[in-house]
Amino acid sequence: MPPSAAAALPADSSFDLIVIGGGINGAAIAREAALSGLTVLLLEQDDLCAGTSAASTRLIHGGLRYLEYGELSLVRESLREREQLLATAPHLVEPLEIVLPLTRRSRRAPWQIRIGLLLYDLLSFDKSLPRHRMLSRAEIGARIPTLAADDLKGGAAYYDAQVRYPERLVVELALDAAANGATIATRTKAVEIRAANGQVEGVAWQSGAATGFARAKAVVNAAGPWVDDTLGGLSRRRLIGGTKGSHLIAERFTGAPDDALYAEAASDGRPFFIIPWNGLYLIGTTDERFDGNPGAASISRDEFDYLVAETKRLFPAADDLEASVRYTYAGVRPLPNKDGVKTGAITRRHLVKRHRDVRGLYSIVGGKLTTHRALAVDCLRRLRRVFPDLGPSPTAERPLPGAVPASERQALFDDLTRVVGTDEAQRLWQTYGGRSRELVASFDASGDLATKLAPDVAGFVGELVFALEREWAISLVDLLQRRTMLGLAADFGSRAAPHAAESLVRLGYWDETRAASELAAYREFALRFAVPSKRGAAISS
Ligand code: FAD
Repeated sequence: MPPSAAAALPADSSFDLIVIGGGINGAAIAREAALSGLTVLLLEQDDLCAGTSAASTRLIHGGLRYLEYGELSLVRESLREREQLLATAPHLVEPLEIVLPLTRRSRRAPWQIRIGLLLYDLLSFDKSLPRHRMLSRAEIGARIPTLAADDLKGGAAYYDAQVRYPERLVVELALDAAANGATIATRTKAVEIRAANGQVEGVAWQSGAATGFARAKAVVNAAGPWVDDTLGGLSRRRLIGGTKGSHLIAERFTGAPDDALYAEAASDGRPFFIIPWNGLYLIGTTDERFDGNPGAASISRDEFDYLVAETKRLFPAADDLEASVRYTYAGVRPLPNKDGVKTGAITRRHLVKRHRDVRGLYSIVGGKLTTHRALAVDCLRRLRRVFPDLGPSPTAERPLPGAVPASERQALFDDLTRVVGTDEAQRLWQTYGGRSRELVASFDASGDLATKLAPDVAGFVGELVFALEREWAISLVDLLQRRTMLGLAADFGSRAAPHAAESLVRLGYWDETRAASELAAYREFALRFAVPSKRGAAISS
């Protein structure tokens, strides 16, 4: 039976484990625990992947930069997980070759880069991806002729991986958790973690006007940058010291490279990425202390100007870069609280913190998209104190629900192409993987579902229904930003939004009033993603 958002949580309920937070880490822990045989409740105050996990640079990477800080075990763990994800989520995670230019002004000398990349290869000795190559000045110049040439010395090329849509990765983790018995409750906020006599009792929750209490033997607080808020008074010291990172999403600008680039910013030596992504360019990121509401984080004018200036320094012909930026996004890294340490130097390693005064309560600090499964395995290992019978991890080589073996991909693609044409087949594969079959089969229920949202807009009406009925989507933001992914196009979904709302009215899911309020909420949501100078005009109706 597919999961449904309509499955309401009873006011009184009881589970082995409650996980708070439906980001990558909460979803991964819920999946690991459900597959390990525990009864699990996942509480998410908003939608799946509504927090930091949707605001990353979308790399599944070892983190070349972390070698500078001696984090060898973190890099090794990340590279091992990268290899796993390439195999277990091939529709979502793809190899990405990255070019690293070296200039006379680079703070890192070519020999340092060479040693770093040798170490990176060594730490991923069991990988399927090619090894790095050093590039001469002539080679890099020929490969990216628009790169500023004056002080270019040469470069290197190495492989990492990209997850086009972490949003879909989180949905698939939750689907796998639910298929193994987990209850996924979105729009349900953990309002209080209750404990008595030094033992966790459960979580009081609120969902709209409904409230309730869920009991559990253990609670994992995986609320990302909200971890301290969620603990209330249960921790004497602050666990998270968030840093904000922002990105630009641009259309092809003059001189834009066909390759992904990892370059050093001339102004402060910080490395940043320029990556072809989703038919656009993703440029970022920054790293600034942040104490505000993580749900309201947005790019500042200074961050915007910094990323534009540094990109133009690399691509001097890019006079149109600023005008090519279509939207921006920012997120808060839930890093460990460390005063007096440079933001870039704070470890990206995860920590599963056991609260010694409240038995059965754990909080997740830090972590990366890349290492979500390793974090979940680690968390379940810690939970053996509460559940001594837990066995070895069940997810080591477990494919995600949309994974398709390489030998069957062409047949799937051919089948999809026959129904929806090549471009849409490609988009469906990159969004739903093998679940596209289930999606397209659901189109048979009514001719309406197989209709395009509009002749000149990507997407099918059936995708909306699929997301509402089988993937916990509720709002237009959920549908466009975190399920169909149509909202990440250059227009931020502004063309798809009214057609999606109209379709759901036609099919009887929404009435006119609901459609109007969903459209208004979508426009409001888009404001946070606008180019700073144009904030207030990110999306027009
Ligand atoms: P979140 O995704 O924030 O999830 C926490 C969830 O908890 C949210 O959905 C929130 O709504 C929910 N919640 C909060 N309070 C409550 C409550 N009381 N009740 C119920 N629910 C609640 N990692 C990589 O591997 N590769 C990258 O390229 C990369 N780039 C990054 C770039 C930036 C700018 C940033 C900020 C991070 C990047 N990361 C990257 C790191 C990675 O994105 C994060 O570490 C990871 O997404 C954190 O996931 P999470 O599940 O812990 O937190």
